[in-house]
Amino acid sequence: MTPPSQNQRGIASVTDATRTIEGDGLEIRRAFPTVQIELVDPFLLLDHMGPMAIAANPTGGVPDHAHRGFETVTYLIDGAIEHRDSTGNVGIIGPGDVQWMTAGGGIVHSEMLDTNFFHAGGTLHGTQLWVNLPARDKMMPPRYQPVASSEIPTAQSDDGKLHVKIIAGEAMGVHAAVETLTPITYLHYSIAPGGAIYQALPPDNNAFAYILQGDATIGANNRLALEGQLVLFSNDGGGVTLGVAPDAQRPAEILLLAGRPINEPIARYGPFVMNTQTEIRQAIRDFQTGQFLRPGNA
Ligand code: MN
Repeated sequence: MTPPSQNQRGIASVTDATRTIEGDGLEIRRAFPTVQIELVDPFLLLDHMGPMAIAANPTGGVPDHAHRGFETVTYLIDGAIEHRDSTGNVGIIGPGDVQWMTAGGGIVHSEMLDTNFFHAGGTLHGTQLWVNLPARDKMMPPRYQPVASSEIPTAQSDDGKLHVKIIAGEAMGVHAAVETLTPITYLHYSIAPGGAIYQALPPDNNAFAYILQGDATIGANNRLALEGQLVLFSNDGGGVTLGVAPDAQRPAEILLLAGRPINEPIARYGPFVMNTQTEIRQAIRDFQTGQFLRPGNA
């Protein structure tokens, strides 16, 4: 399709993800926060894990830790992660699956390799996004939306060059299965060389693209963005064009995220994201006195 020339968002910045270690020795790329990008309200963090080869019986994983005041969205492309938490939930996130977890008032959980995957080894590839909650929802009871790959709606372009998984929001007239507390668009585009799409976005949303694999062309002027780069769009109300150059050597995998900014003060301390320092001190006290371990504590 020919993207409309008007109504395109500008590109505010293109930045590289930084390499960091999460949990017990799991090397990941962090798209943000970085020195350049503190957050993209309502999004607090995007981590890109892999793709990496995992040997049989490796060390590593993310053992018990707490969250309060926001949501973690885990999207696995390859591999399998077992999730366990203080409310008694156990689940396996497999290839293509999404787990949309609302920590709300508090949860303690672990994110480790699934036992079968742990013993066999294989490729691990996925992302974790943190979505902030507005003050009114920060202390809500924790909840989960596990979404199996087969339940995630998809769409294709007529020329077969473009495929999209609709994790949240809407694309090409197809709506996602998850419910979000504030309006969120979360799309995974796979685009072959020569493919392109114009994606409309809600005008009041902040938006960014992250290149999981390959090289993409972004925006009205086809700016090149490479694997591991974060493209932050201007908040000027338009949509965005995503594509891959016709002479590119391989397809690109692109995440496109948009959300309505919450515009509230943020007090952030590791796994707790609240509005004030007083609420952070309360979160630390509650964690230290075991309040997070009571099912339905919020
Ligand atoms: Mn976690």
